[in-house]
Amino acid sequence: MRFIEPHAHMVSRTTDDYLALAAAGCEAVCEPAFWAGFDRGSAEGFHDYFCQLTAHEPRRAAKFGLPHFAWLCLNPKEAEDLKLAAEVIELIPKFLDCPNVLGIGEIGLNRNSRNELKVFEQQVDLAARYQQLILVHTPHLEDKLKGTRLIIDALQSDRRINPARVIIDHVEEHTIALALEAGFWAGMTLYPESKCTAARAVDMIEAYGAERLWMNSACDWGVSVPLAVPRAGLEMRRRGHSAAAVDRMLHGNPAEFLGQSPKFKLAPE
Ligand SMILES: [Zn+2]
Repeated sequence: MRFIEPHAHMVSRTTDDYLALAAAGCEAVCEPAFWAGFDRGSAEGFHDYFCQLTAHEPRRAAKFGLPHFAWLCLNPKEAEDLKLAAEVIELIPKFLDCPNVLGIGEIGLNRNSRNELKVFEQQVDLAARYQQLILVHTPHLEDKLKGTRLIIDALQSDRRINPARVIIDHVEEHTIALALEAGFWAGMTLYPESKCTAARAVDMIEAYGAERLWMNSACDWGVSVPLAVPRAGLEMRRRGHSAAAVDRMLHGNPAEFLGQSPKFKLAPE
């Protein structure tokens, strides 16, 4: 089973995880910038993190034959401090030309606060000005639905944004239709404790079809499973989906979305 891991925080994972991904058929890992589990104290902290995502981590992945791609941003959990946010956003353009950077992400909302929304809009503007793909994080709290609506409204009110170049991640049963019906891509995050299980993800594939949909593990420093994507592929097979349908969901779809960036290239067969 070949697959692409389109959302994994590999800086938090071990070399054993890289080995397991490569051995299971992974052909590329993509790493959005996100919260470190604690608030960074300065823009310099983000600068170093962006260097890690664009220079160090691709070298670590390459030791396991895996192409590594990154997304850059200030994550919503650290968007309350508007002065810090402005300093970080100013840092981003000089990294956008790095050969592994696919776009701006994961931007979005956490508590749906006014400042988070302001910083979200600033980063959407950045993506529009530099013609970047966008990866959106939706809140995991009880107000995921409200947050998803706010995000979609903000994206739709910026006329430069083409929804086919935006993925709304961490969708669940009550938000997936909002994203897909507005023309966006949607990501389902497979988590052992929260978010979405493989069984629920396959239910959603059966209900909504395979178009503009992908699955990811979003594995990070918390309890998460780097092999969640191929395991969901096994769940698809168990429920009678063809090998071609699994290949489309795990490989074809992420390759199609990510391939909108000319930098996204898999190793030659
Ligand atoms: Zn993430």
